[in-house]
Amino acid sequence: MAPPRSRPLSVDLLGRMPWLRDHIRPAIRLHPRPGLVADRAASKLGGELLWPADEPWPTCPIPHVDPEGDRAPLYPVMQVRRDDALAAGGARPDHALLDELFPAGSDLLQMMWCSRLHRDDDEVRLPSTAWFWRRIADVTAPRARAPRHVPATPKDYLVRPCVLHLEQVDDLPHFSEWEYEWRAPPDPCDVLDTRFRGELGGVPSEIYCAESTAPGIKLGGHPPLQQMVVRGEFSLHEPPRCPAGHRLTHLLTFNDERFVDWWRPTPEQWAAEVNDENWPPPEGAPVSVCEPGYHFGDTLLHVFHCPRCADQRTWDMVTLT
Ligand SMILES: [Zn+2]
Ligand SMILES: [Zn+2]
Repeated sequence: MAPPRSRPLSVDLLGRMPWLRDHIRPAIRLHPRPGLVADRAASKLGGELLWPADEPWPTCPIPHVDPEGDRAPLYPVMQVRRDDALAAGGARPDHALLDELFPAGSDLLQMMWCSRLHRDDDEVRLPSTAWFWRRIADVTAPRARAPRHVPATPKDYLVRPCVLHLEQVDDLPHFSEWEYEWRAPPDPCDVLDTRFRGELGGVPSEIYCAESTAPGIKLGGHPPLQQMVVRGEFSLHEPPRCPAGHRLTHLLTFNDERFVDWWRPTPEQWAAEVNDENWPPPEGAPVSVCEPGYHFGDTLLHVFHCPRCADQRTWDMVTLT
């Protein structure tokens, strides 16, 4: 079967509003689909990652009480190869995006998180991420297996192993990002709606909202920022900045693949697979397992980084729709 690909938008946004071209930022949709990938160095969600045998496995900075007495090892979530990201761009790969995703000559990015619930009273149970960049050729003696995951609660954040089908798409700023650009008042919907309907090509704002910004799990592009920030150092009313004052760029959004509206993938079999997953989960099943078709609740996890500072620090933000 052909890999899942984004279908054309219902409205030609760029044709209606050619000025939007200046605001395109390519994104790479991951299109995860359940499947175990044996190759340690391959792009994937979950499963075994490429990790040097002589490099300590990272642990959570919070000293969890572990049944086996150890610091909680981070849980491997995602690994993406630069050559796969390059191929996702087809005839027009975006080299600026590739340079951002794979800094300092790296060709493999890895993301982990702590699988434990950090606060029992967390209404929004999304984990904090840790990122690693490396060169595949440097790992001459890889570790055989990740540390065994010791379940702490039924609400551990686990990931069903997935094959990735990377696709580069053109992302436009989400509706909420225009607050920054147009310095709209705190409740800007009327202003933005009037501008989109009246002055800017007659596109209703709800269509722009649904189709401008790719949903699901993606690298780069514009963050699909929603109604409210529930965790993180930033507000929706100011562009996120690093301590040195540089505007941060969007590195990743991790979100449900199920409700992707206009961005439902083709061919139809893929769309059906996304929409027919077992939601709601059976009674008693873990509710925070992240997998395609599985539910993150009403929340999205966004990760930002600074393109100008060399420390490769990342910032997490969680929003609620
Ligand atoms: Zn932890
Ligand atoms: Zn910076």
